[in-house]
Amino acid sequence: MSKTHYSQLLDHHMHTTLSPDGRQSFDDIAQDTIARGKELVVTTDHMELFYLNKGNFFCVDMDEYAKEFAAIQAKYPQLTFMRGMELGYESAAAGQIQQFIDDQQLAVAIISIHTLFDGKDLADEIAKDGYWKYSNDLFDDVLNATIDALEKLHGFQTLGHLDYCWRYMKKKPKSLEPYYPKLDKIFQLLIEKEISLDINTAGWRYGLPFAHPQPAILERYYAVGGRMVTLGSDAHFTKDINADFERALKMLAEIGFDYITEFRPQMTKVFLTDIDY
Ligand SMILES: [Zn+2]
Ligand SMILES: [Zn+2]
Repeated sequence: MSKTHYSQLLDHHMHTTLSPDGRQSFDDIAQDTIARGKELVVTTDHMELFYLNKGNFFCVDMDEYAKEFAAIQAKYPQLTFMRGMELGYESAAAGQIQQFIDDQQLAVAIISIHTLFDGKDLADEIAKDGYWKYSNDLFDDVLNATIDALEKLHGFQTLGHLDYCWRYMKKKPKSLEPYYPKLDKIFQLLIEKEISLDINTAGWRYGLPFAHPQPAILERYYAVGGRMVTLGSDAHFTKDINADFERALKMLAEIGFDYITEFRPQMTKVFLTDIDY
């Protein structure tokens, strides 16, 4: 059997122009998929249900999505488009988010923490004001929100960029050890619910020395038995699709992982020995 080249692996995390920060159309993505010799493609636009009917900030218009999706699939019958969404979690919207997961039956539903403290954006108010205005320990708040999400929700595929808040923290924790009890709780819930960790290569593009989550967190996940990891570029531009996947695979191999998980949409193990990277 010939090996799959890393540039042809399924990218589980990318945004289209349906996201306010997305700069690639469905057509751009289709062209890229063809150029790579791939057939399967999934997009995961932002859906922040907390804001639905409160300004619809970062909410996809599902009618527009259905129209665009049907049109692109009809235009490129040689490709298989799968439906996905990146769902921002807020405790107050947990019921709506679960309803959305149940109703939509997506191939890839990612749960991510983009906001805390009732809808304050980590990348916006919290970054601008300084998180210390809201919190003594931002990462601890993110972990609490993540545990809450994992306890309340089920039936989604991946947990998005667990240490995304690192991008917006001027003072970062020196050691992760104090966070091990909460991280372990998260990992236990992921394993129990068969939810994969998003290996989000955007960290490198944001000038961080790692993909999310950072290697120390992944090492801990591996040590407690976590094995499900899923590659995602978080591309908002076509040039970033499958970005740094070879680098991510090398890092995973170093930690000890011997396979990645793809949702095609059936859950599929792809062994590193079967990938050219
Ligand atoms: Zn995100
Ligand atoms: Zn994203």
